[in-house]
Amino acid sequence: MTQASKYGFDTLQIHAGAKPDPATGARQVPIYQTTAYAFKDAEHAARLFNLQEVGYIYSRLTNPTVSALADRVCALEGGAGAICCSSGHAAQIMALFPLMGPGCNVVASTRLYGGTITQFSQTIKRFGWSAKFVDFDDLEALEAAIDDNTRAIFCETIANPGGYITDLDAIAAVANKVGLPLIVDNTTATPYLCNPIAHGATLVVHSATKYLTGNGTVTGGVVVDSGTFDWSASGKFPSLSEPEPAYHGLNFHAALGGMAFTFHSIAIGLRDLGMTMNPQGAHYTLMGVETLSLRMERHVANAKRVAAWLENDPRVEFVTYAGLPSSPYYNRVEKICPKGAGALFTFAIKGGYEACVKFVDGLDLFSHVANLGDARSLVIHSASTTHRQLNAEQQKAAGAEPNVVRLSIGIEDANDLIADLDQALAKATA
Ligand SMILES: *Cc1c(COP(=O)(O)O)cnc(C)c1O
Repeated sequence: MTQASKYGFDTLQIHAGAKPDPATGARQVPIYQTTAYAFKDAEHAARLFNLQEVGYIYSRLTNPTVSALADRVCALEGGAGAICCSSGHAAQIMALFPLMGPGCNVVASTRLYGGTITQFSQTIKRFGWSAKFVDFDDLEALEAAIDDNTRAIFCETIANPGGYITDLDAIAAVANKVGLPLIVDNTTATPYLCNPIAHGATLVVHSATKYLTGNGTVTGGVVVDSGTFDWSASGKFPSLSEPEPAYHGLNFHAALGGMAFTFHSIAIGLRDLGMTMNPQGAHYTLMGVETLSLRMERHVANAKRVAAWLENDPRVEFVTYAGLPSSPYYNRVEKICPKGAGALFTFAIKGGYEACVKFVDGLDLFSHVANLGDARSLVIHSASTTHRQLNAEQQKAAGAEPNVVRLSIGIEDANDLIADLDQALAKATA
């Protein structure tokens, strides 16, 4: 994709990773609904299995439709290589997999998607991995949490749900100092609002389920590798820098350089964990990505208007949108995501838990769903749903207190959204 990088974002989101189908001339990326690919001869098959030639073997590993999406997101993020996965959560495991081993830990921000906190604090223990959660505004605490067994630092660009923006440059400086890879979940910012690699990230993960697809039709994920991390320098990443027994002793970093992570993720990660994206899902996400910049502009414009309206409403206690001058993270917008602070934020209703529940039930246009990044506006009461399994302290740290409602602002007419919020607030606080 280096070739395509002479183009601007609006061009890449339509053209990167795709050209007319060589077999038929089909202009749109076809859905290659096939499990396997015929080898030209036995010699060709052997070369593919040896990674001496890049090609298609079996769709658990690679598929042309899925590869087109991987290459497109890679180009939009300014990466060296990318892989698509079955979900955003799968992408997180796939990002950690080559780096971690039993006894290793990831140091993660306290401000994360609720499901990620559960995945990191509970489920990864089954692999012998663990996570330490730290306030990423406290750089000393971050450094203090890093130990000899730490293999990665993990955060989100714009953290869901509290409207928090991570100072990626500051975190990357710490990662750089201690020689560890920084993994950034860029789901809620999208590559249109922020390119974490430009701020020093090693790996970028996405839930393609959200803005990349943009209409709530797909579950998918992507991992993009910057290709710049030196996996051999510290001796901490033997699966990448030493002969890997799971792939007949191949030393991925020595053999593949900046593409080591990507090839490892395909040849071992997707092969053995099987968290593969299906070609039809990839096709839908490719359609979504074509209009990403246009949608994000409207998402941001609507979010700004709605957030400002809510902030001025006497029934509202506070609004946590980083695009509002009242936000403590307002000054990070210019540095991290100058095109806007996204379209996801929370606000507190006077009246607490009860009022929030009434408010959510009183909305007409906003759908009450456990999703975000849809063309249509969505609402959720995090404390009773997505962040329900967290304790009160974790809820507070994540910005999901009981009196707070999360909005994912869609691309409808902002006047209609405001009118709907107005009538539901009236019901909630009557
Ligand atoms: C939704 C989401 C995830 C998980 O993605 P899935 O596709 O639902 O598995 C991870 N991180 C963030 C920020 C998300 O919004």
